Amino acid sequence: MIIEPRVRGFICTTAHPAGCAANVREQIAYVLKQGPIANCPKRVAVLGCSTGYGLASRIVTTFAGGAETIGVSFERPPTEKRTSTAGWYNNRAFEIEAKKIGRAPVTLEGDAFSEEMKKDFIAKVRETFGQLDMLVYSMAAPTRTDPDTGQVHRSAIKPLGAPVEIKTLDTETGEVFETTIAPASEAEAEATVAVMGGDDWKRWIDQLAGAGVLAPGFQTLNYTYIGSELTWPIYWNGTLGRAKADLDRKAEEIRKRLGPDAARVVALKAVVTQASSAIPVVPLYGTVLFKVMKQLGLHEGCIEQIDRLFRTRLGHAEALDDAQRVRVDDWELSPKVQAEVLRRWPLLSTETLGELADLAEYKSQFLRLFGFGIDGVDYAQDVDPRVVPK
Ligand code: NAD
Repeated sequence: MIIEPRVRGFICTTAHPAGCAANVREQIAYVLKQGPIANCPKRVAVLGCSTGYGLASRIVTTFAGGAETIGVSFERPPTEKRTSTAGWYNNRAFEIEAKKIGRAPVTLEGDAFSEEMKKDFIAKVRETFGQLDMLVYSMAAPTRTDPDTGQVHRSAIKPLGAPVEIKTLDTETGEVFETTIAPASEAEAEATVAVMGGDDWKRWIDQLAGAGVLAPGFQTLNYTYIGSELTWPIYWNGTLGRAKADLDRKAEEIRKRLGPDAARVVALKAVVTQASSAIPVVPLYGTVLFKVMKQLGLHEGCIEQIDRLFRTRLGHAEALDDAQRVRVDDWELSPKVQAEVLRRWPLLSTETLGELADLAEYKSQFLRLFGFGIDGVDYAQDVDPRVVPK
């Protein structure tokens, strides 16, 4: 079949196998160009391994760090008539490339929140690696079924306390408008913490420690976003921020159990991923941020951020902030970038968007997540959606 993007709001319901594979290969090429990373953990687990920051973590540790990896993600496989999720194609492309350099990656597809997945995972780790040196928790999900109660928690991306009036962007039409976002109820805020907070992370680590599969010196990372005063009303001071504050608490609990460096929350920059495109205001902020960072020669995507994390931050105690987090969002939050984004923000309108922001770049990055718009891919070619090219 000829595969074309089918975009509905902030999701694309199709993905291109050759395009996703090309995307994975581009990221691998970037990492190889940077050269090897010394002292990288060698047996690495990545939860949320198929897209965004998790995929980048798997690529950096494998191709620059010399690691063997086990990945977990939630995917829909392809059929003869329907494409898979982008993550399924990315997982296959990653496996193809990792095997070419003699690695034996393990990928489990299913619900990482479930007890069943945790059991299967532990069995696989025992069978293949014995123990783990690192676990990267890079999951972003809209819902989570509580393993104890069976209750389905649904996250709500909303402010807390009072309504927020804020500028936003319709990425399909390019219209910039003011919108009012009603605050979350206490139940919605709690549900968001249940999905995106640290409870599942802590459960993973407790179960892995209990099973004796954590090697001495084991470290776990969990990714957070702090952002700037422009996104605080909807993000850091909202339900998601409350969930992310829970990560800091859980990191402290894990450190108490496993040692002073055993758990780190890592603050990363805003990038276009399936998760971030669903957050109100973030796409508008992103279109301005990307333009400013490109103009200042500071542009980074997932792979550049994660490469910088492993190459320059981990193991460098001086890089911790006062909440014990690792910061790789320093370029985004630098005074020169923020001053320019803040200067442009009040001037933003449907008419000025083209001059002050880069919607075309945002849209192109969004489509790339699903394997579309990538150089060298023949989109007119009839392809079998079940096959990822070797
Ligand atoms: P993403 O949407 O690209 O990736 C999410 C991953 O989670 C995918 O691999 C998906 O398959 C997996 N997943 C979802 N539900 C699952 C389930 N039930 N079981 C197993 N796997 C599941 O997201 P992302 O933007 O890379 O986000 C990863 C982390 O990085 C999040 O904690 C996010 O808050 C953080 N972060 C993101 C940004 C950003 O701008 N995108 C910035 C800073 C930090």
